[in-house]
Amino acid sequence: MNDILPDEAELWERFDDAVRGWLRAYGYRPMRMPVVEPTPLFARAIGEVTDIVEKEMYSFVDALNGEALTLRPEGTASCVRAVLQHSLLHGGPQRLWYAGPMFRHERPQKGRYRQFHQFGVEAFGYAGPDIDAEQIVMCARLWDELALTGIRLEINSLGSADERQRHRAELIAYLERHREALDTDAQRRLHSNPLRILDSKNPHMQELIEGAPKLMDFLGEASLEHFGGVQALLKEAGIPYRINPRLVRGLDYYNLTVFEWVTDKLGAQGTVCAGGRYDGLIEQLGGKPAPACGFAMGVERLVALLKEEHGEEAGQAARAEPDVYVVHQGAGPQAPAFRAAESLRGAGLDVIFHCGGGSFKSQMKRADACGARLAVIIGEDEARSESASLKALREEQPQRRVPLAQLAEEIGNYLFGDEDGNV
Ligand code: ATP
Ligand code: MG
Repeated sequence: MNDILPDEAELWERFDDAVRGWLRAYGYRPMRMPVVEPTPLFARAIGEVTDIVEKEMYSFVDALNGEALTLRPEGTASCVRAVLQHSLLHGGPQRLWYAGPMFRHERPQKGRYRQFHQFGVEAFGYAGPDIDAEQIVMCARLWDELALTGIRLEINSLGSADERQRHRAELIAYLERHREALDTDAQRRLHSNPLRILDSKNPHMQELIEGAPKLMDFLGEASLEHFGGVQALLKEAGIPYRINPRLVRGLDYYNLTVFEWVTDKLGAQGTVCAGGRYDGLIEQLGGKPAPACGFAMGVERLVALLKEEHGEEAGQAARAEPDVYVVHQGAGPQAPAFRAAESLRGAGLDVIFHCGGGSFKSQMKRADACGARLAVIIGEDEARSESASLKALREEQPQRRVPLAQLAEEIGNYLFGDEDGNV
């Protein structure tokens, strides 16, 4: 679990701002769910035999009432729970998003943390391939807006439950014929969750996995048509993709379309965004059956990619520099300087008021270091004449005296140009 220090947190904020604007542009509305839920919710939604539920959840017993609780490892289960609890689907289909920390007890490494952050996007009540495609296309737009290149798209179809069932039987038979080649994880999952074996990263099993029966060959007409529909819209939008038959995703609730956005620039943890369709989950959690489709982005990985691709420049653009630093000296000037700072903030400027005293020189040093473009200086002289001195910090310009009453306007003109566009 990490502390996000100001230089980094400013970059996160800029990322968040971009993402929020982008979500609005596609008609998604915000949701905020609690970070703790009853443990059975995740076991039911994500699946008992998944990495998350088997070994990654931070679960505990509420000392006050003995309830089994878990820090949320992902947002979809909570989002569906909330949507059902508050009957949101009675109002028709919904496009929703949420953001925040998720918790998984994993082995920490670059791009993999125990508290990490996601933006999650869910659409409920849309059955056709258009929403799947729209969610994928919207990701492509975000990468564009963030000037991120080299994130490639992989898609697959997991078909229907029936189709997966038939594939599963053949897959188990195949894997049983090669039992000696299975690692312990795979042996354990052979009957409980064989599809996940295809997702194994064990290099010794890759050949075996290559030769396994492919789910794609078991898809019926309706599934193929849905998958074709998604692909047609992606082609139409000019989004390149690769069909990866081994893309099965780590959670049980998916069906039909699944997708991942992957980069090579972050080492082993290259998936920055992943999702797909989960038409069965709402019913599984006690709701009236309704189709659903969503994805989640890993904020740490995307911010890392921003830094990897835009480094200094990204950090610079995200720096929150104030417009003005207010310098003052002596007991007399303090009150008018304090008032001036407040009235400048009232005029919409970002202002740092020097606190803590110190020499004029040391205050000017602080003013310079904070990145402000202007220093407002109020000494005894200025205080007596109800004025302030304005000093440009980023360019050569003579210092000048301005009446306090005109301070905001003068500063506005300097920073943003006057009505004639002069600076
Ligand atoms: P992985 O195969 O890397 O474990 P996952 O399938 O478990 O990923 P999802 O549950 O699909 O991941 O989460 C969506 C996204 O959230 C991932 O693509 C990734 O960007 C991010 N993410 C998941 N787990 C972590 C983690 N422990 N630390 C940082 N980011 C993560
Ligand atoms: Mg995982």
